Amino acid sequence: MNPDVVINLAYLVSCVSFIFGLKMLQSPLTARKGNAISAAGMLLAAFATSMNREALPYLWSFLIFLAGGSLIGIFAAKRVKMTAMPEMVALLHGFGGLASMLVGWSIYHATPDLSLFTSIDVFLSIFIGGVTFTGSMVAWAKLSEKLPGRPLVFSWQKFFNLSLIALVIVLGVFYCTDPKESYFLLLWVILGSLFLGVTMIIPIGGADMPVVISLLNSYSGLAACTVGLVLENNLLIVSGALVGANGVILSSIMCKAMNRSLAHILFSGFSSSDIQGQKQQMGEIKTMTPQDAYFVLEAAKSVVIVPGYGLAVAQAQHLVRELEERLEENGAEVQFAIHPVAGRMPGHMNVLLAEANVPYDRLIEMEDINRTMSNVDVCMVIGANDVVNTSARDDAKSPVYGMPIIEVDRAKHVFVLKRSMSTGFAGIENPLFYKENTTMIFGDAKETLQAIIAEF
Ligand code: NDP
Repeated sequence: MNPDVVINLAYLVSCVSFIFGLKMLQSPLTARKGNAISAAGMLLAAFATSMNREALPYLWSFLIFLAGGSLIGIFAAKRVKMTAMPEMVALLHGFGGLASMLVGWSIYHATPDLSLFTSIDVFLSIFIGGVTFTGSMVAWAKLSEKLPGRPLVFSWQKFFNLSLIALVIVLGVFYCTDPKESYFLLLWVILGSLFLGVTMIIPIGGADMPVVISLLNSYSGLAACTVGLVLENNLLIVSGALVGANGVILSSIMCKAMNRSLAHILFSGFSSSDIQGQKQQMGEIKTMTPQDAYFVLEAAKSVVIVPGYGLAVAQAQHLVRELEERLEENGAEVQFAIHPVAGRMPGHMNVLLAEANVPYDRLIEMEDINRTMSNVDVCMVIGANDVVNTSARDDAKSPVYGMPIIEVDRAKHVFVLKRSMSTGFAGIENPLFYKENTTMIFGDAKETLQAIIAEF
């Protein structure tokens, strides 16, 4: 059989495995299997590519890079902490962007007669790949606190960024009209794109970061797609389009979850001036010991647990599960309220609770739980802050105003388990802590939960 036919058949199988894999990621029940199926499809695609007539003589280098890449991947996946997953995802998007940029650049050198179509594709893969690479690196640095997480703004920033985008596009157009004679223009496009990635992402920060991560996800897909077009590689086109579309859908879900438009996030920033001056006296707080909390929980007939980033930090997911069992044995109905941006990555809380075998039917989405919140006896907020910040609902001046929240303050009693009065990721005060029906239980979530369970 013609080797090209075999390769294309293998690509087809890979595409199908990606689509099925993606579909299976929809539910925590099938996600693991979906991930494995997609990974197997990717391995098949890599082998098929190495069987290409031009690539075959370099099979040895393919095997070395495959082994090296796999080892690094396994090592990184084993070492990365659950709480550092978003940084890891940002890094992976960045590498995707870098690969697209480098392939686009190398195609320029490898193609003797660059058609207009190929030149445009080379430009696009370098432009999108470059922005994705440095943008993702900045996102990684912000999330891992190597750079300040707050927005870094300078005057005329919007104007500067829009002008830079226009400049890179103009340079690209001139380069495409005469690619062989205007290599220096391509080099300026590379520099401009890399610089643009930095200046576009540094003004974004605070609670807008999740959207940036999913947007970079879609950029990396688009970059792969343009490389696929220039290489005439159907698999890259399909997989790039899948990743690109995924990122766009995820970004729009996140925007909806935070009630912010994409344009607002990208160009207006999460106003740091709004955050300053937030510190104001909001009243007195009430505190309680875990032992006293037990008495209230023991009498409760319905309990809602709202997990947040702090639960992941404390690694208290197994204890939460244990508490759920104790409460249920005691006759209470227990539910988990999941906010779409709780934690530091989409689906963070679902993954965390799945690790502790919390049944999926106990995980209730924000809109549904809010509807029944006034009937809840005790709402336990464990390591969450921004996603229960009542100023998002009540204070039109708050930078998070309009972001949907889990309305825990409508429950009869609210217990907030955290270590101190410090703010969450968005860096803003939370009036919830001062409400009449709220009681703070200070301490590491793991220790507090252990103490409550001990009482049961
Ligand atoms: P927050 O970051 O708002 O709050 C977490 C809280 O956990 C902190 O106030 C902290 O308070 C507490 N905490 C930390 N460690 C512990 C511990 N060991 N024990 C007990 N409490 C602890 O988390 P949320 O989940 O409420 O909100 C997520 C935020 O992250 C949102 O602003 C969201 O936009 C953003 N984000 C989300 C992403 C996503 O995709 N989900 C990605 C990137 C950002 P203290 O220090 O006092 O203990």
